[in-house]
Amino acid sequence: AAKEAGRGVHSFYDKSMHADAEDRRNLEMDLRKALAENQLHLVYQPQVSTVDEEISGYEALVRWEHPVRGSISPATFIPIAEEAGLISHIGEWVLRTACSEVSSWPQNVKIAVNVSPTQFANPGFPSIVVNALATSRLAANRLELEITESVFLIEGDETDRMFSRLKSIGVRLSLDDFGTGYSSLSYLKKAPFDKIKIDQSFVRGAAMPDTRNAAIIKSIVSLAEALDMETIAEGAETHDELDLIKTLGCSHVQGYIYSKPLVAKEAVALLHNEFGTITPSGMNKTRMP
Ligand code: C2E
Ligand code: MG
Ligand code: MG
Ligand code: MG
Repeated sequence: AAKEAGRGVHSFYDKSMHADAEDRRNLEMDLRKALAENQLHLVYQPQVSTVDEEISGYEALVRWEHPVRGSISPATFIPIAEEAGLISHIGEWVLRTACSEVSSWPQNVKIAVNVSPTQFANPGFPSIVVNALATSRLAANRLELEITESVFLIEGDETDRMFSRLKSIGVRLSLDDFGTGYSSLSYLKKAPFDKIKIDQSFVRGAAMPDTRNAAIIKSIVSLAEALDMETIAEGAETHDELDLIKTLGCSHVQGYIYSKPLVAKEAVALLHNEFGTITPSGMNKTRMP
């Protein structure tokens, strides 16, 4: 049957693959214009302490409002930007914009910014960070750079050198999507991370009976504690997941259970709630009039 269908199926795939490639080329061209034409903006998702439900910081996430197609997910356009050699440009814009927007927010609030492996591999990256901090007058210890395990695939001792240069600037480092990539534990020994972000794939559904996720989260937490790192559980959506995360000892949570990513104005407003705390389900403790 497969053989009979073969011909039709084949030409169908050819067609859709062709469309995909063309689609990609169009998006790439549009992406070149997006920065110049102000189509990118940042949204901010709260990172919440499990101890007191205080918002310790926000993760900056880039958004692209395409003039014709509407909003395009970073999961779609970041890989295109990587391949088209546009990621360093976009990444620098994200860093500068996040630092300057957040510099006027309350002093204790941190800002986490995603750094792509390509940016990290650029020897000029530390200077870009120093410059973004100086221009915005944001204190270095309020900036946290989120890096994924894939940076450990960069050859040579460049990676070690980059880590020490970034640490000497005084920024914080966080290991994003932990457990999904090239998970060798040996790099945890030398890389100076302040925080491990436990990937959503372990967090979501962790509270269901009969899953191994809880055991995995528990062991990541104990590893992080032994290495004096914070842990943040990404992607918690339900009360059950939140309760479990607290029980397992994660120090922080980031997920829809507290809030989706917010535009800057909403993020600042949230910080003016009582004690800068937030309650699950996005229902904030607002001051009584
Ligand atoms: P990430 O850095 O792991 O960011 C977390 C993603 O999970 C965000 O998706 C966030 O909106 C989503 N998320 C958080 N909590 C929940 C939840 O409870 N449920 C669900 N379903 N999703 C949740 P987003 O904004 O679409 O970003 C996707 C990825 O794109 C990011 O993953 C990151 O790898 C990349 N990205 C986003 N902004 C940037 C950027 O400025 N630079 C670079 N290099 N990459 C970026
Ligand atoms: Mg991230
Ligand atoms: Mg992540
Ligand atoms: Mg991710």
